[in-house]
Amino acid sequence: MRVLLIGSGGREHALAWKIAASPLLTKLYAAPGNPGIGREAELVTLDIADHAAVARFCTEKKIDLVVVGPEGPLVAGIANDLRAENIRVFGPSRAAARLEGSKGFTKDLCANYAIPTAAYGRFGDLASARAYVEKTGAPIVIKADGLAAGKGVTVAMNLAEALAALDACFDGSFGQAGAEVVVEEFLTGEEASFFCLCDGVTALPFGTAQDHKRLSDGDVGPNTGGMGAYSPAPVMTPEMIDRTMREIVEPTMRGMAELGAPFSGVLFAGLMISGEGPKLIEYNTRFGDPECQVLMMRLKDDLLVLLNAAADGQLAHTSVRWRNEAALTVVMAAKGYPGTPEKGSVIRGVEQAAGDGVEIFHAGTAIDSGALVANGGRVLGVTATGGTVGEAQRRAYAALDRIDWPQGFCRRDIGWQAVSREQAR
Ligand code: AMP
Repeated sequence: MRVLLIGSGGREHALAWKIAASPLLTKLYAAPGNPGIGREAELVTLDIADHAAVARFCTEKKIDLVVVGPEGPLVAGIANDLRAENIRVFGPSRAAARLEGSKGFTKDLCANYAIPTAAYGRFGDLASARAYVEKTGAPIVIKADGLAAGKGVTVAMNLAEALAALDACFDGSFGQAGAEVVVEEFLTGEEASFFCLCDGVTALPFGTAQDHKRLSDGDVGPNTGGMGAYSPAPVMTPEMIDRTMREIVEPTMRGMAELGAPFSGVLFAGLMISGEGPKLIEYNTRFGDPECQVLMMRLKDDLLVLLNAAADGQLAHTSVRWRNEAALTVVMAAKGYPGTPEKGSVIRGVEQAAGDGVEIFHAGTAIDSGALVANGGRVLGVTATGGTVGEAQRRAYAALDRIDWPQGFCRRDIGWQAVSREQAR
């Protein structure tokens, strides 16, 4: 098979690494990719926003499957535009990607299909949103409706914070994404990420993970794209997975089909596990990063076989096997992240640090005069497997400490909840 992978982060490096291991693969291209992906694929310069150009490339290079990593192109309808040219795509249509592209759309779907989630209101103007927030009180959660690069959510612990977040949305801080706002009940419990591969009809459970969104040890500091993750998530027991499928994922699949927007691709449910069971915080319509890195390390089966089955509507006849090991990723970020990261510092020792169940996925790197340099906020994902989360954690940090990059930093406590659970056993 000839495959084109779209994207340039740690998620896409992990996908490229796993796709490259498939005996089905004859050629892998990546656009735009990064130096790590460049070890697995031929990098091509393509304007991903120009769907006609992507389609031309696919026709010219006889691409059998396009795998779309990030949400932006999906919400912009790249899957529709490629399918219109008879190009096979793994990823949802524009209408199905509304599950990520519009929080209000997803909340209404939950309301219509009795999917457990936080109580909410949708607002298109400041005055009515303020009135709702003042009546409900804090803590309360304010969300820009559209894609806001992970910055559109404020968990407000007091009224002043909530009102400031509303002002920011309606001031245009998030552009068109904030023109509508969802105001939500504050949920408590333990968060978990749950993934399914979907083919429009069938959703196949595809692993669990927990990530660390906060910048600093102890889960404090500003939110980031994710400073680390591990899989599996201990809170996602087989019973909890069954309930999540029955109460959340299956009604979503039914609802999307009934709306004429059957969902295919990766459905990534952000969950709050409370005493009452699983509640949906949000959907993403692609893999998480760094969650994808830990999932790919644990996946025993051929990823390309599974992506084909999803693209062809064959998931009902497919199963997935996982290694009986945990995996854990520690993100190394460039100083300044999540604000303005310093670019251009030289990173040494990456190749030597990997091996023996440790993979170092590139997220924000570049080659400058033959040297590997930082070229983004989150730069590397140091990912290790182990018999327990604790062992994966020890191996990941041992590898990370072999990397010579004084301008990089990381959290030192990735996986702490799971490790303390293991120690209490
Ligand atoms: P999201 O971008 O929707 O994933 O939200 C980012 C983070 O905000 C989540 O991972 C949660 O930690 C938190 N969050 C979002 N919605 C709620 C909610 N209704 N109650 C409590 N925390 C929330």
